[in-house]
Amino acid sequence: MTKAYDPNNIFARILRGEIPNKTVLETAHSLAFHDISPQAPVHVLVIPKGAYVDFAEFAARAPAEELVDFHRACAQVCDMLGLTGPEGYRAITNAGSHGMQEVPHYHLHILGGRVLGRLVSPD
Ligand code: AMP
Repeated sequence: MTKAYDPNNIFARILRGEIPNKTVLETAHSLAFHDISPQAPVHVLVIPKGAYVDFAEFAARAPAEELVDFHRACAQVCDMLGLTGPEGYRAITNAGSHGMQEVPHYHLHILGGRVLGRLVSPD
């Protein structure tokens, strides 16, 4: 199902240069920047430049070039931030109300630098 994209969401505004961000990496189709409220010593968000609400829409609709660019950018961010060693990292994405997604523009959270606990809390 294609969801309506809100062009005024905060990440769309970052992409238009209306709001500053701490950029880690910019590629042809993707942008990676530090989360404004980091939940771990490393907390970076990677977003496609295209207008996709969530992971499923991006995976279903984005052209191959954008899909490859996005995932290569994620890999480069992991490498740049020293996350590819044995301690590892977590890459997660939230969607919709059950996923508690706050910003309706697809983004992958890349977290690392400490033990991150279990994936899903019991509550
Ligand atoms: P989610 O709940 O998966 O939609 O995550 C949204 C994330 O965006 C949260 O971790 C916020 O801290 C982060 N965030 C919100 N506004 C900004 C901003 N202006 N710059 C960087 N990160 C932001």
